[in-house]
Amino acid sequence: MRLRVPGGVLTSAMFAALRSVSDEFGDGRIHLTSRANAQLRSLPTGMDSHLPGRLFEVLRTAGFLPSPSHERVRNIVCSPLSGIAGGRADVRGLAGALDRALCAAPELADLPGRFLFGIDDGRGDVAKMGCDVLALAEAPGCARIIVGDLAGPAVPLHAAPGALVALARRFAAAADGHWRARELPLRGGELLDGPVTATLPDTPAPTMVYGALPGGALSVLAPMGVLTPEHGDALAAAAGTDGTLIITPWRGVVVVPQPAPPRGALARLAGTGLVTTNDSPWTRITACIGAPGCAKSAGDTHAAARAAASGPGPPGHVHVVGCSRACGAPHSPHTLLELGSKR
Ligand code: SF4
Repeated sequence: MRLRVPGGVLTSAMFAALRSVSDEFGDGRIHLTSRANAQLRSLPTGMDSHLPGRLFEVLRTAGFLPSPSHERVRNIVCSPLSGIAGGRADVRGLAGALDRALCAAPELADLPGRFLFGIDDGRGDVAKMGCDVLALAEAPGCARIIVGDLAGPAVPLHAAPGALVALARRFAAAADGHWRARELPLRGGELLDGPVTATLPDTPAPTMVYGALPGGALSVLAPMGVLTPEHGDALAAAAGTDGTLIITPWRGVVVVPQPAPPRGALARLAGTGLVTTNDSPWTRITACIGAPGCAKSAGDTHAAARAAASGPGPPGHVHVVGCSRACGAPHSPHTLLELGSKR
C-alpha cells in the first residue's frame, strides 16, 4: 500500500499511525519511496481482496487519505530542508496548500499517477527530479514556474500552488493519452503563456546533509529506504509528541523535534543503523525491494546492496534491481546493478 505524503511531511501523530498499522497488519516496517511517499507491505486482504477497514480508519483519523478520489494524483515533492538549512526561500507550507487546491479540483482526479508536482526552495534538489510542473524559488518571495524542462513566468511565491494547479488543468485538457508533460508535442510548451526558455535556470549543486542541523533538527538516511521498528522507535523519540518528520526523496527522514530533541538523540538514531554522516556508503547505494517482496525479482537485492556497501564497489551511485523494470532508480546519474529476470 502506497500512501501519498505531499512534501514528505508527517506529524508525530501521522508517523505513530503509520507505525501502528505496519505493526498490526504489515511487516512492521515503513518503506520510503523516491517520491517521498510511504509504503506498507505484507498487508492482509480478505476473501473479497479488500484490506481491513480498521486499517483505513486509523490512517484517515491521523490525516492520511484526505480525498479518496485524488489519492493517486497527490504526487507532490518539496525541498525537505527548506526553512531549516540553506535554500533561497522558505517554501514550507506550499506543499500542503498545493495538496488542498489539488484535492478541491474534481477535474484533476484523473490526472495520470505519474504526473509529478514539485516545489523547490531554490537549492535545485527537487528541480533535478524531472517534475512535470515545478515552482522554483528565485528569491524569498518569488518563484519561476517550470513545465518539464521549459521555464515560464515568475509568480509571487504564495501564488505558486494556484499556478501549478492551473497548469495541471491545462495538461488534463491537452493530455490526449500522454502521462507526462514532456510527452506533449511541444514538450509542455503548450501549457505556458508568453515567452518560454528552453532550459532550466541555474541552481546550486544540491546536497543532502546528514547529522545535526540548525535549530535542533536531525537528518538521517534509511539504508535501502527501509525503516525498521527500531528505527521507528528512535525517530519517534527524537521527534517528540508534537514534532515533524519529513520523508526525503533520497529515502531519509529530517526530524524537526518539538519541543526539543532529547539528549543523545542523534547517537541513538545512529545506534539503530540509520545513517547520520555524509561519508557513509549508503549515501550512494540504493536498491529496489527485490525478493522475496517482489515476485519479479531474480534475487535478493538488499543482500547485494549490503555486499556493495561493505566493499569498494563501483564508483558513484549504484542502484541494485531484481529485474529490468529498475523500480526506484534515482533521478541523478547512477550505475544500475541488475540481478536478472525470472522471465
Ligand atoms: S525492479 Fe523488478 S524486481 Fe525490483 S521491485 Fe521493480 S519489478 Fe520488482
